[in-house]
Amino acid sequence: MSDTPMKIGFIGIGNMGWGMAANLVKAGHQLTAFDTDAQRVERFARECGGRGTTQLSDLADAGVVITMLPTGAIVREVLTQGKDDANGGLAALLQPGSIVVDMSSSEPVGTRDLGHALAQRGIALIDAPVSGGVARADNGTLAIMYGSDDAIALERMLPVLRAMGDRLFATGALGCGHAMKALNNYVAATAFAATSEALLIGSRFGLDPATMVDILNVSTGRNFHTDVVMKDHVVGGKFATGFAVGLLAKDVKIAADLGAAVHQPSPVLDLVRDRWAYARDALGANRDNTEAFLAWKGQAAQ
Ligand code: NAD
Repeated sequence: MSDTPMKIGFIGIGNMGWGMAANLVKAGHQLTAFDTDAQRVERFARECGGRGTTQLSDLADAGVVITMLPTGAIVREVLTQGKDDANGGLAALLQPGSIVVDMSSSEPVGTRDLGHALAQRGIALIDAPVSGGVARADNGTLAIMYGSDDAIALERMLPVLRAMGDRLFATGALGCGHAMKALNNYVAATAFAATSEALLIGSRFGLDPATMVDILNVSTGRNFHTDVVMKDHVVGGKFATGFAVGLLAKDVKIAADLGAAVHQPSPVLDLVRDRWAYARDALGANRDNTEAFLAWKGQAAQ
């Protein structure tokens, strides 16, 4: 049980949000899960507890709203535009003094714009994106990197964040969490692309990909993907990490846009962004990000 149970509206119970919201229910919070997918909402309430709804207006009395949505544009739409029962967005329905925590991987500049819009209604915004994937969302051990301009709201939210993650980092002002998340995923996406190319080149020369992964893992080329992903999902052919290629391509583009916004030349980042955009377009945005290996392999064979 948490020390102070709160009334929480959780928006977006997808691959990540499901486990995160379930952990908040387990921590004793009074949670209402909202998603546009009615079947998922109904199944969540049945299997994990709390309430489920497809009506945004059911979150009007939540003092805390957490968003775990595909993009920052959707987060902004839900909060400031809404539809049907919530014209003008959820922000128009929430009480002043409410706190919104965006845990999606959103664009940092858009997050600051949203923060200003919400502040005009007396609503605080915190960005608190996560890393660790579906397994760590489920067992409450995510890494969470948060940014905030409101120390009091942040203090109130830390116990809530601790129910979802065990490694929490203060990154600075509002938007810094989202900037850090995009930059992390740029580094991870680069490691995956480089590892994939190494496996493809090695295979063509006669090396065994599984042996290559073993050697990388005890050598200087070791990275998260060689350690956790490549054996099962690429060499083993599972291709099912639960992280869509469209979302990863989005993250790398956010990092590239950020580099451009601060006038930092980043040619490697621009190339990696283009490689992931190619994979997304070749595969379809909803396919698993590890299938990028197949897209690049197919391209190489032409
Ligand atoms: P997902 O596509 O599995 O889940 C998104 C959920 O949002 C879905 O249930 C969908 O129905 C719902 N949704 C979409 N539009 C909506 C709207 N307008 N109103 C209400 N609900 C709506 O995505 P995910 O993999 O859970 O990722 C969520 C966020 O977390 C993304 O920003 C992603 O980049 C980030 N992320 C994902 C992972 C991962 O491993 N999957 C890891 C870290 C961060």
